[in-house]
Amino acid sequence: MDIQALIRDIPDFPKPGIIFKDITTLLRDADGLRYTIDALAEKCADFAPDFIIGMESRGFIFGAPLAYKLGAGFIPVRKPGKLPAAVHSIEYELEYGMDRLEVHQDALHPPDCKILIVDDLIATGGTAAATAQLVQQSGCQLVGFAFVIELKDLSGRKRLPEVPIITLVEY
Ligand code: AMP
Repeated sequence: MDIQALIRDIPDFPKPGIIFKDITTLLRDADGLRYTIDALAEKCADFAPDFIIGMESRGFIFGAPLAYKLGAGFIPVRKPGKLPAAVHSIEYELEYGMDRLEVHQDALHPPDCKILIVDDLIATGGTAAATAQLVQQSGCQLVGFAFVIELKDLSGRKRLPEVPIITLVEY
């Protein structure tokens, strides 16, 4: 199935020069949504993760159904101030300035558990690299990354640790 045809380009969003890959058009298509989750599950099955980590907010949309399909748990990584219990946090660089991601301190255990990181899209790789650091600091085993979309020109995968990276659509 051609899911690329269901992903819409929005030029100059959220600022001039950015071509935003809008996945809402993929999500509202029942066949496209089912195909996307099934394709991720097929490609990620061999990782046999104990947990999937999804980054707020579009990582939640793909990460939770993928966890369900793989028989794994789901762990949300959120923007600052959203998680109610004690958190580990990590600062990372954005194009302009810094941002922070948080995960519950008691979520990443036992220490040898296998974790797969999932997001809708990898651009510069900063978000995924920061999430990987959170996993590695916990002592859990990072087994891979899965993204629906990869923007290849930005070489985001070069910033990631050397574990397998699954993608469905490349630009
Ligand atoms: P990065 O940290 O640069 O890899 O950016 C990844 C995060 O930003 C993902 O959570 C994406 O949802 C979002 N993002 C970055 N660039 C785009 C884009 N061109 N279109 C849609 N989302 C994007």
